[in-house]
Amino acid sequence: MNHLTFSPDVDDNQLIIAGKTAKEIAVIAGSTPCYVYDRKFIIERIFALKQQLPERLHLHYAMKANPMPALVTHIAGLVDGLDVASHKEMLLALASGMEARKISIAGPGKSNTQLTAAITAGVVINIESANELLNVQQLAQQLSKRAHVAFRINPDFEVKGAGMKMTGGAKPFGIDAETFKETFSLLDANYCHFVGFHIFCGSQLLAAPVLVDIYRQVFALAVKLAEDVGVVPEQINIGGGFGVPYFPQDKALDVAYVCQHLAQLIDDLPQCYQEVELHLELGRYLVAHAGTYLCQIRDIKHSREQEFWVCNGGMHHHLSNSGNFGQVIRRNYPVLLANKVAAEQQVQVNIVGPLCTPLDIVANNVALPQAQVGDYVAVLMSGAYGATASPQQFLSQGEVVELLL
Ligand SMILES: *Cc1c(COP(=O)(O)O)cnc(C)c1O
Repeated sequence: MNHLTFSPDVDDNQLIIAGKTAKEIAVIAGSTPCYVYDRKFIIERIFALKQQLPERLHLHYAMKANPMPALVTHIAGLVDGLDVASHKEMLLALASGMEARKISIAGPGKSNTQLTAAITAGVVINIESANELLNVQQLAQQLSKRAHVAFRINPDFEVKGAGMKMTGGAKPFGIDAETFKETFSLLDANYCHFVGFHIFCGSQLLAAPVLVDIYRQVFALAVKLAEDVGVVPEQINIGGGFGVPYFPQDKALDVAYVCQHLAQLIDDLPQCYQEVELHLELGRYLVAHAGTYLCQIRDIKHSREQEFWVCNGGMHHHLSNSGNFGQVIRRNYPVLLANKVAAEQQVQVNIVGPLCTPLDIVANNVALPQAQVGDYVAVLMSGAYGATASPQQFLSQGEVVELLL
């Protein structure tokens, strides 16, 4: 078995996902390629996290990580809220049974259709600019309603550590911290109910002290901004950031450390913040491990010195695994031959998809057991930013099937 960042279920040399072999999953799906998500895994993941999170910190799911409807409904029953990034995601969140006030919608350039729907449904709108605030107020007035708004803040601090610079500077997201007071003065309480702040500083962080430092600054900023305008917020959404280890050199986030320090940060909030609702919004961390992308080998060929396995799936279904979803350096996700997990004899192979482009990579130069046409290739850690983060129409090869088992 090549280097994996977690131990998958293996029985009789077969990868087991949600109690089934790859072949069984392919039969259930009706075809490959497919994504399969393990519902029990998600339950365990969320329970394990909730046991460690400070009690006051509500856990929200950031739906864009994986908006498969059945999966969202499953997760909705396990978390305290849902964060959405579009009208369609908002409808899914409402359909999951989550209360509207526990749903928030973020993103720049929200349309009037989206905003009117959010105001009417009672969903919290994360305000991204002064213009958006004015627009929301006008729409709310026309509807004779009060919109629930949180101000998304673009912080003025920089995060130290690991040379990372994720916040501060010019961003299309949120209201610059230094202009908050001015923007807040535009708020018309007749049409907008100010619920609090949304401060999201970044994603896929694995260094616990860096993450804690971000949250420390986020809390401090929220308290300072609220003081500047003489209010106590009802809610503070401190964003997410919990990363997952995809690659052998990645070390898993020390969640116990983060939670312990979060508890301290919450204890240190001003006395008058005891009733303030605190939100943590995670996407990837909740779902990445629970998903597997399965495809089958269609051809095995040799070119010069190298062996290639050509599969029926690839970048059009799994852009992030191909290394084209914003990565600077491409690295292999954990990959297995699902129906022959281990073997004494390994071969060094390149696994590719069926698209006529060198970008269509499943895995580069990996050591795996010898394979035959028809064998199953499994890309693990594929539950986040998979199907919906991929260009499924590219080369018109067909869409991927998604299963929740
Ligand atoms: C994408 C996003 C998240 C989730 O990020 P993950 O890295 O998947 O946890 C959380 N909050 C906001 C505002 C986002 O845009």
